[in-house]
Amino acid sequence: MESQRQYPAQFSFEFFPPKGEQGEARLAATRDELAKLNPRYVSVTYGAGGSTQAGTLDAVRGMLGAGLDCAPHLSCIGSSKEQLRELLDTYREMGVKRIVALRGDLPSGMRDSGDLHYANELVAFIRAETGDHFHLEVAAYPEFHPQAKSALHDLDNFQRKVEAGASAAITQYFYNADAYLRFVDECEKRGLDLPIIPGIMPITNYTQLARFSGMCGAEIPRWLDRRLAAYGDDLESIRTLGHTVVVELCRRLLDAGAPGLHFYTMNQSGPTLALWRDLGLD
Ligand code: FAD
Repeated sequence: MESQRQYPAQFSFEFFPPKGEQGEARLAATRDELAKLNPRYVSVTYGAGGSTQAGTLDAVRGMLGAGLDCAPHLSCIGSSKEQLRELLDTYREMGVKRIVALRGDLPSGMRDSGDLHYANELVAFIRAETGDHFHLEVAAYPEFHPQAKSALHDLDNFQRKVEAGASAAITQYFYNADAYLRFVDECEKRGLDLPIIPGIMPITNYTQLARFSGMCGAEIPRWLDRRLAAYGDDLESIRTLGHTVVVELCRRLLDAGAPGLHFYTMNQSGPTLALWRDLGLD
């Protein structure tokens, strides 16, 4: 873990493409609030198979227009090489220098999985098409990807992405710092020398978090799950406990040498601003 200290701490914020005028206005307000914190970059998610393509492009334009370095997420599942090539050309023309390269999940009802089946193939494709133009972030799973055959197999697959040309990794969110620290140790043992940035999910809504965690394989520790569930509709108590837990998590990660933090903002500035303030990141 010690060797991660060589990277300057980098903080980034993730957004999703909004739906409707209200969502767009909220994203613009959130973007402007969080831009004041001077993040290294911001990122915008992308629906696999191109399902949010127009929204992602609009949001990326808005971020670049606000003077932010912006990394569109790009998932390969359900897309042809030609579609991916066109999108890469568009991003290059827009001045994009970073991409978060993912496999994605095939939307239900979509049968054609496209030309590339795993993120390592996408990373290799982007490198073959565009050389070193893009700084490529990939996803990492300290608690392992839910579809992985085994923990070891998942690490092997992470290694494939790194060897294909990833520049850095962002983790799935987690609330158990040890999972991250062990994952980083395993990577170091394999000689994978790239920044692995913890993905931080603020806790604001228990029902949503529990549903999402079930799908993506992120574990809410039992003691935390029970306490959050016991608050029922008492959102204020959920937020207060959630905030305390996430501040402690971030402190522990940064103290242990994590090279930065990537905040899943859910297009809201408040929870991320509160974490920022209480972590003393100003
Ligand atoms: P991969 O790295 O390809 O891994 C997927 C699974 O396949 C794993 O179980 C892995 O072990 C296995 N595997 C990998 N390579 C091979 C191989 N060569 N042979 C056999 N098995 C293999 N989803 C979206 O739809 N849009 C987004 O914008 C988005 N952003 C995300 C951002 C972050 C930081 C993270 C952590 C996740 C994000 N996701 C997003 C979710 C992500 O798309 C899903 O978790 C998806 O199921 C896996 O994508 P991946 O890039 O990690 O896939």
